[in-house]
Amino acid sequence: MLANGTESHSTIVLKNCHRCGQEFRSDYKDRICSICRMPKERDGKPTSQHLSFREKQIVDLICQARQNKEIAYQLHLSEGTIKEYLNRIFRKISVKNRTELAIWALTRRVSVADTSLRLTSAEAQ
Ligand SMILES: [Zn+2]
Repeated sequence: MLANGTESHSTIVLKNCHRCGQEFRSDYKDRICSICRMPKERDGKPTSQHLSFREKQIVDLICQARQNKEIAYQLHLSEGTIKEYLNRIFRKISVKNRTELAIWALTRRVSVADTSLRLTSAEAQ
C-alpha cells in the first residue's frame, strides 16, 4: 500500500550517480544521487567532497608521497596543472596541505581502484 500518495507508475531503480559513481535508488530521472543533489551549504562550508577520477588519481599519488613533478610525469600533465588540481582538492575537502590530504584520504580510503570499478560497472549498463 502506498503510504504517501506516490504515483503508482513510479518505479524505484538502482542507478550509478554520474557525479560520484555511487549507487543510489531513484524513482525519478535523476542522474546524480541525493548527496550530490543536495543544495550548497551556507557560505564557508565546502560544497562537496566528491573527487573526480583525475583528482582521486592525484590523491592516490599524494598518499604514496610523490612529488608534483612525479605526479605530473605519471599522469602526463604539467606540474602547474597538478598544482591547480591540488589546490582544488584542498579546498574541496578543507585541508591545508598534502600531508593533511594524505591523512584524509587514508582514513576515508579514497581510491582510484574503487572508482574505476564503479565506472566500469556504470558504463556496462
Ligand atoms: Zn553522487
